[in-house]
Amino acid sequence: MRIRRLFLLFFSLYGLSTICAQDFDKYFSDNTLRADYIFSGNATTQEISLSGLSKSAGWAGRRVNLDTLLLQGNAQVTMTDCESGRIIYKQALSTLFQEWQHTEEATNVRKAFENTILLPLPLKKARITVTLCDNRRKTVAEMSHFVNPDDILIRHARKHLSENVVKDYLINGKSSDCIDLLYIAEGYTKAEMPQFYADVEKAVHALFSHKPFDKYRKHFNIRTVAIPSECTDVSEPLKGKWHETPAMSHFSTFYSDRYLMTEHLFRLHDLIEGIPFEHIVILANTPTYGGGGIYNLYMLTSARQKWFEPVVVHEFGHSFAGLADEYFYDDQYETYYPADTEPWELNVTTLADFDKKWRHMVKDVSLRNTGDVGIYEGAGYQSKGVYRGSFNCRMRTNEYPEFCPVCRESIEKVIKYHIKSVK
Ligand SMILES: [Zn+2]
Repeated sequence: MRIRRLFLLFFSLYGLSTICAQDFDKYFSDNTLRADYIFSGNATTQEISLSGLSKSAGWAGRRVNLDTLLLQGNAQVTMTDCESGRIIYKQALSTLFQEWQHTEEATNVRKAFENTILLPLPLKKARITVTLCDNRRKTVAEMSHFVNPDDILIRHARKHLSENVVKDYLINGKSSDCIDLLYIAEGYTKAEMPQFYADVEKAVHALFSHKPFDKYRKHFNIRTVAIPSECTDVSEPLKGKWHETPAMSHFSTFYSDRYLMTEHLFRLHDLIEGIPFEHIVILANTPTYGGGGIYNLYMLTSARQKWFEPVVVHEFGHSFAGLADEYFYDDQYETYYPADTEPWELNVTTLADFDKKWRHMVKDVSLRNTGDVGIYEGAGYQSKGVYRGSFNCRMRTNEYPEFCPVCRESIEKVIKYHIKSVK
């Protein structure tokens, strides 16, 4: 009897999951809804406001696992069909605003940050909820609004860059079947565009030389955007240099010298609207070391320095797979990862809930410097209380040649979450 009941339970749960695993075409048209939000506040307060909506033809994003999240990120977007009350799409991301909240500046001033989130356009009226979480993964701000696909004030956007500027670099299939990456030139003059394409070549080669990306090359599409800048290089506030560049990036983001980022997300998305993409890789034509990558937002790195290849892959680890940094400082000034909370990033643990991480890969928890998977203290900027899976990894140092086994498994999970079937 017990077996039979278990059997029935299994089938009823299975039945439930097939109802939830909806068909993309039942709820969405093949169009992209761009939702612009302002996240504002200071170190302890946060507010979310809708800034604008637009739509463009084609949806290059996920068409599977629509109502489930693999990674939680620091922010989530949930779309609910108003008629049925069913969740039809979820997306997770992290934001520059939440990083800024940890800076000293955030204790003195309120600031507002632009965030653009791309969603599939619903066929019927839907409710969109945006949630921001703190580092204990508790909701600290939430805002809901409705989207009616017939709303006349949803701006019609279209691709406006010419074929000379947007090029296919590597097309392995339809956008609906592949993960679409967009490489953008930042700080290259018109005459320097051959250099940009050579840098793309290097970056793509570096990515697919890393396991497990090598195995999944056929599941990626790559396009390039080559908008010329007036002069070479990007802005370097420390040197008093400010340049007009497509993404308006600059070093010294949050007064951190090497942090090369852009806060002009609306402008960036204005430039590239209508182009099929899911992940943004910005290559900066500068010899100064720097960059950054934020989960499901974008990544940026300097292409003219000797660590370009490892760094472009490292930052993609952040922006594509939500991997945490595995390095740490001895003089940490802040607890980034509280001991009572398991981080959402798959490659670090506080041991609060290690079963959800790489316990299945650990033979001996006392391993050190052996090259095997274990529990190594020091990760996520903290020398104590946060652990990584291997002594070294692409997410720890530029010199080390590959991702550790824990990161490799995490990246594979992310790739499989995005695509229908693995070839
Ligand atoms: Zn790793």
